Amino acid sequence: MNIRHWVRPEVWNMAGYLPGEQPDAGRPFIKLNTNENPFPPPLPVLEAIAAADPAQLRLYPEPSSRPVREAAAAAYGLEAGQVVVGNGSDDLLTILLRTFVAAGECVAVPEPTYSLYHSLAQLQGGKFVGVPWEGDWQLPLQALLAHRPKMVLVARPNAPTGHVIPLSVVAALCQQSPGVVVLDEAYVDFAADNGLALLAEHPNLIIIRTFSKSMALAGMRIGLSFSSVAIAGQMHKVRDSYNVNRLSQLAAVAALQHLASYQPLLQTIRDERQRLTAALRQRGFQVPESQANFVLAQVPAGGWGGQAWLEALREAGILVRYFGQDPALVNHLRITIGRPEEMAQLLEQVDRLLAMQSSSTPAP
Ligand SMILES: *Cc1c(COP(=O)(O)O)cnc(C)c1O
Repeated sequence: MNIRHWVRPEVWNMAGYLPGEQPDAGRPFIKLNTNENPFPPPLPVLEAIAAADPAQLRLYPEPSSRPVREAAAAAYGLEAGQVVVGNGSDDLLTILLRTFVAAGECVAVPEPTYSLYHSLAQLQGGKFVGVPWEGDWQLPLQALLAHRPKMVLVARPNAPTGHVIPLSVVAALCQQSPGVVVLDEAYVDFAADNGLALLAEHPNLIIIRTFSKSMALAGMRIGLSFSSVAIAGQMHKVRDSYNVNRLSQLAAVAALQHLASYQPLLQTIRDERQRLTAALRQRGFQVPESQANFVLAQVPAGGWGGQAWLEALREAGILVRYFGQDPALVNHLRITIGRPEEMAQLLEQVDRLLAMQSSSTPAP
């Protein structure tokens, strides 16, 4: 018996997305590997979750997450009909691929970027095209469009680089694209600007956001998409009927009603990001300017490689992410911005490991 005869070739032949490690609760790691928020959500959000009535869980949630869509519309100056809520933004990405990309149709993406785009396009039987970023992380606009893609996905800020492309380039992409443009704003609350104002002028633009990073609710699985009402209507037909659970809807509404109470926490993360960027550069790492809640750090030349750094930091109780299987990211560590004391401990360990290397101790 070989199950290969039963499994769809698209599934059999794909590697599957590999999420970052979530260690057991008992292990005291400093967790800088999956871009979660190092702070809990603000008190009003925690209180709203704690006040939920568990007896209500016997009932299905509101199918279209209407209270969340209304709160998002009020918070971001949209109509509720323009918003679709997902079980995390990964759910919205799946919905978008299923809504727009038929088997064999092209999905084009600048790379390196969030590798789930590739997995989801493969699952859908789409033709995935990854085009390398141009020098200084510029969007390879013409090279992407040369494939006449049904869908272009761009993360802004991008992961794992943290860079942002100019909004004028996003506008040009929408204007010239024969298909839809998905702007993934997972990290936009840590950035200087966002693409919301482009929605009104570009009917093929879809923006997605997540509550997993800036909103400190990764465990709740909440994402939003913003688009035309017409596109949202098609997406609603594709999503699971009850794709967002009651507790998550409640938490999402509370977070959207208390956006201002997130500001101090977001500012702390931006400040720590600037501090860490400077400190790592001072120590010989190459770190591009990031507008996200992480930095991408190329390890100093002549010392250990990326895999050795990953393992030595893990040994020291610090988890970071290494994507060494991608040739463009060899010897680059992606480090999530943590609390100030966590960043101090990281730098302490970096200094210790650099000293070990200069006294030529072999890599672990
Ligand atoms: C984390 C992340 C997501 C997924 O967010 P969820 O809402 O947790 O599914 C989507 N896109 C990018 C670029 C991300 O980094």
